[in-house]
Amino acid sequence: MRVVVSGGSGFLGSHLCEELLRRGDSVVCLDNFSSGRKANVARLIRRPGFHCAPCDVTERFRVFGPVDAVVHLASPASPADYHHHPLETLAVGSRGTENMLRLAESRKARFVLASTSEVYGDPAVHPQAEDYWGHVNPIGPRSVYDEAKRFAEALSMAYRRSRGVDTGIVRIFNTYGPHMRPHDGRVISSFIRQALRGEPLTVFGDGTQTRSFCYVDDLVRGLLAMLDSIEPGPFNLGNPEERTVLELAELVTGITGSGSEVRHLPLPVDDPVRRRPDITRAREGLGWQPRVPLAEGLRRTVDWFASEAQAVVREPERAAVAGPS
Ligand code: NAD
Ligand code: UDP
Repeated sequence: MRVVVSGGSGFLGSHLCEELLRRGDSVVCLDNFSSGRKANVARLIRRPGFHCAPCDVTERFRVFGPVDAVVHLASPASPADYHHHPLETLAVGSRGTENMLRLAESRKARFVLASTSEVYGDPAVHPQAEDYWGHVNPIGPRSVYDEAKRFAEALSMAYRRSRGVDTGIVRIFNTYGPHMRPHDGRVISSFIRQALRGEPLTVFGDGTQTRSFCYVDDLVRGLLAMLDSIEPGPFNLGNPEERTVLELAELVTGITGSGSEVRHLPLPVDDPVRRRPDITRAREGLGWQPRVPLAEGLRRTVDWFASEAQAVVREPERAAVAGPS
């Protein structure tokens, strides 16, 4: 297959591009490098079948040659990133999604949308299954991301129903692993960076809020399963292993052997209290389930931060969103 991946130089996108190439597909990566890094795809650039085109998918663009599938990952994903770039987040979720859907329609290609557990907002139902419609504050600071993704889902379903596009939606829950930006502001990248530098781990609120963390290799297997299927979804993709933020802090200090203490900071507005995916549908519809336990995934991520990303870990604090690198 020839697969167009928007956001292909980001955290998830770079792993997906690598797996697609590994199994023999060719890849066109479209990215404006707003939160993605060229370093993430540096070792793919010389591989046959990989093409990386600097491109803002909210603008007009053209892809030459055949296209069999489109995976739309482009969007700020870290809360720090979308708080800094609210209008760009809404634009890529709306105009960007429509541009990618049009590309898929014009080439009769499979289209996969990377949606998010944030469509459930601060969920009143636990764990979250796909038939739960969510509890989102439409005017709060997180709404630029949550509502953009909800709109993107609605747009995908409209292209499916009215234009016959072969669409699929996955709702991704918190994912972590190598290629995360140490300063992206997300909890795992922040805790690992802080622990490796011997700085206090910044726990927002009292740390009793929960998340369920999925290792990136598992998530990418789920994305590929969705790409290869004809299912419309939505499917939750995530690891149901639920932990409080304080438990996560303890795990990270244990694995790194760090003497870092915890420093409590104010809880962000509308921060979801609990989050855990019900993955029954993905198990049955895609034959997918995660395999990497949290402790093992954290060890692999710590190793990557400590070795390959050593220079970046030592970098001084800077804006959460990196400019073009
Ligand atoms: P990321 O920030 O590392 O990657 C996003 C990529 O999109 C970056 O390379 C960025 O430069 C690119 N991008 C942003 N706006 C663009 C535009 N207008 N045109 C072209 N490229 C643009 O984030 P990620 O964690 O890899 O997330 C990828 C996707 O998965 C996002 O859509 C995100 O909403 C979704 N997702 C991720 C998680 C997670 O835990 N990582 C959870 C839920 C959903
Ligand atoms: N969090 C934290 N310290 C940090 C960053 C995040 O305590 O330095 C908390 C955050 O308030 C949330 C959870 O960790 O409750 C997950 O945050 P993240 O930004 O990784 O993802 P979210 O699920 O909020 O999109």
